Amino acid sequence: MMARMSDVVQSVLAGIDGVRGWQEALYKDLHQHPELPHQEHRTAAKVADRLRTSGCEVHEGMGGTGVVGILRNGDGPRILLRADMDALPVREATGLAYASTHVTDEGTPVMHACGHDMHVTALLGATDLLAASRQQWSGTLISLFQPAEEVGDGAQGMVDDGLREVLGGVDVAMAQHVLPLPAGQIGTCPGPFLSAADSMRITVHGRGSHGSMPQASVDPVVLAAMIVIRLQTVVAREVAPAETAVLTVGSVQAGSRSNVIPDHATLLLNVRTYDEQVRMHVLEAIERIVRAECAASGSPKDPEFELYDRYSLTDNDEATTALVAAAFADHFGERAVRIPKHSASEDFSDLPNAFGAPYTYWGIGGIDPDAYRVAEAAGRIAQDIPTNHSAVFAPVIQPTLDTGTSALVVAALAHLGRG
Ligand SMILES: [Zn+2]
Ligand SMILES: [Zn+2]
Repeated sequence: MMARMSDVVQSVLAGIDGVRGWQEALYKDLHQHPELPHQEHRTAAKVADRLRTSGCEVHEGMGGTGVVGILRNGDGPRILLRADMDALPVREATGLAYASTHVTDEGTPVMHACGHDMHVTALLGATDLLAASRQQWSGTLISLFQPAEEVGDGAQGMVDDGLREVLGGVDVAMAQHVLPLPAGQIGTCPGPFLSAADSMRITVHGRGSHGSMPQASVDPVVLAAMIVIRLQTVVAREVAPAETAVLTVGSVQAGSRSNVIPDHATLLLNVRTYDEQVRMHVLEAIERIVRAECAASGSPKDPEFELYDRYSLTDNDEATTALVAAAFADHFGERAVRIPKHSASEDFSDLPNAFGAPYTYWGIGGIDPDAYRVAEAAGRIAQDIPTNHSAVFAPVIQPTLDTGTSALVVAALAHLGRG
């Protein structure tokens, strides 16, 4: 007779008291030893050790420091769970006993300011719990730890390094992120959840001259100014009101003296979109406007465009998200909530996209619930609750860690066959 799903979840999660101790110690250790993107050597070694202890088939060094643990457990779907391992060049100011004081040889301070240490620890715990209760499920569990999420190329790096050959296939993929929500809460969102992001470096050319002789110049400062103003019409006039897009000019640089007209200007742009067609339209509109303004100014040379720091859209599959959200509601009760889309970006979707697999990505709260309630009552959430990447972003270890661990187990069991 088949066990009821909630009984299976209860029975697998009964082991959580046994993993919490090493998880909390590991979390503090990882937090104190953060590593920048592509430098996650120490973290990767700890991950691989723990996966081996849990009985996984372990693949290391994928796409640099990526690690994959595989539990093959009979017929059933191949489920990929993913955590990211990298930290940020931020000087920690949380004042925690286990705060990072790490500074690289080049003098860059490093901090787990985005909670990736929490993701790693939760996924290792969930993997261990599922490994210890194989008789309760069947299928293949793939626990993947990627480098370099913060620079957007860690997931693709693992794909390019033969991930498809190692895994064969993936039927569904899932991941989670600590967010500035009350700890214990878990939030799902069907459809587009995190924006696609594109950064663009644009160089426009003029003709330099003495500041007193503008007639001899093609002034790139004026040209850049016209571009900045005209770019404001892209979202306002070319994107439908029901769509969402953000176009920010974050940097304009030209010249260095008051009496010299420079010969070029450089603009750095950031674009966020939630729809591939809107994304393409916005990128094309930028190029069209820049070329037209260059022509209007009589620019002597074509402008140059370089796209960098690009993140794919995170577009949660409706059916997968519905299945997982129902399992969360069943297990977490009112702590399971629906959350709106975010304008942040992620490279997680590069993994399922490489396999043509559906996916869902959810958020877990990391903020002390009492502090959150106080800020909420005062209408000061934006001012008082630190966000990811802040030097004072410090998830409370519990119930954040238990919630993240349980969420992965619940979501995996919602897909895996029953033993
Ligand atoms: Zn981040
Ligand atoms: Zn992050």
